[in-house]
Amino acid sequence: MHSFQTVADIHIAPGGTARLDKYVEGLCKNKRIAIVTDKGVKGLGLMDAGIAALKDAGYAVFVFDKVVPDPPEDIVLKGATAIRKFNAGLIIGFGGGSPMDTAKVIAHLCGSELPIESLYGVGKAKGPTLPLLLIPTTSGTGSEVTNVAIITTGKTAKKGVVADSLYADRVLLDAELTFGLPPSITASTGIDAMVHAIEAYTSIREKNPLSDALALTALRKMRNAIVTAVNDGNDIEARNDMLIGAMLAGQAFSNAPCAAVHALAYPLGGFFHVPHGLSNALVLTEVMKYNLPKADHWYGEIAKDLGVGQTGSSLIDEMLRLKEETGVPKTLSEVNIPQSAIPMMAEDAMTKDRLLMNNAREMTYDATVKIYEIIL
Ligand SMILES: [Zn+2]
Repeated sequence: MHSFQTVADIHIAPGGTARLDKYVEGLCKNKRIAIVTDKGVKGLGLMDAGIAALKDAGYAVFVFDKVVPDPPEDIVLKGATAIRKFNAGLIIGFGGGSPMDTAKVIAHLCGSELPIESLYGVGKAKGPTLPLLLIPTTSGTGSEVTNVAIITTGKTAKKGVVADSLYADRVLLDAELTFGLPPSITASTGIDAMVHAIEAYTSIREKNPLSDALALTALRKMRNAIVTAVNDGNDIEARNDMLIGAMLAGQAFSNAPCAAVHALAYPLGGFFHVPHGLSNALVLTEVMKYNLPKADHWYGEIAKDLGVGQTGSSLIDEMLRLKEETGVPKTLSEVNIPQSAIPMMAEDAMTKDRLLMNNAREMTYDATVKIYEIIL
């Protein structure tokens, strides 16, 4: 038996932000819209045309731009207080994973008036929520179509809000917003999105025919587009394929969750602030080699679908080639992680049960240490 959920209303519209008034139709009951974003996105002017279109159409717009990476709880609460005061009838999450995750929780806090502590965990946040429109400006996290928000509580501890009430009411995919992403970020976030699809396709507990189909299409699109998107950021076709591919991968892993690649990647971010996409790119191929005895047939199916070979190893070779061609760093040393940190990182990786339980092959502490040593 399988079940599958996703966002019901998705618009693929390069340049669509300039007609944002069109894409909020039917969502906002009081002509008052709050946008949740960060200073980087705001500074780039990516929202300017959208805000102008909303104002021309008679909407009052409030911008909360205080989101930071790994969004802390107090910023989420600050945003919710400000937006309640503004009396918004629609929340727009505009940016990468952090602004979108923050917007999901703020929409719930403002709609339900429940305290944030009661939302953490799986299936706890039951709504109601304010209407939510998500507009990604990177091609990677897939957060626009997932039902998860990760919030930093305390100094480094993270808690997840995982509930179907977090699915957005609408998503707008405007690939022109991703033109300005630098090559290195395009590469690492793109590889991360490919990891989402590979891990969803090999997720032993929840893998299902719908997530499989989405993962394969996601990989086909991104495998064909990633090198072009890295080399020519203004290639609209490649950018659009990366954005759609990342979303399809998000739909897949929201239903068939990620596994050991993500578990081994998280400590790189947690202890050394290596960006999420890059962390995944670093550990990807060695984790795949470890998984090969149990995942060979699945990797092989992907390789055949991509037309790169018949066996699991050919998929690993293809991912190595893409890492090479897109120029992502290959070693922990390149991101200043010392050998002495390996035991600590391996111990931390072992705590990621929610991910490890989906892995095709049981991951052990010793195997994790070995993988970190190989990529040192
Ligand atoms: Zn990821």
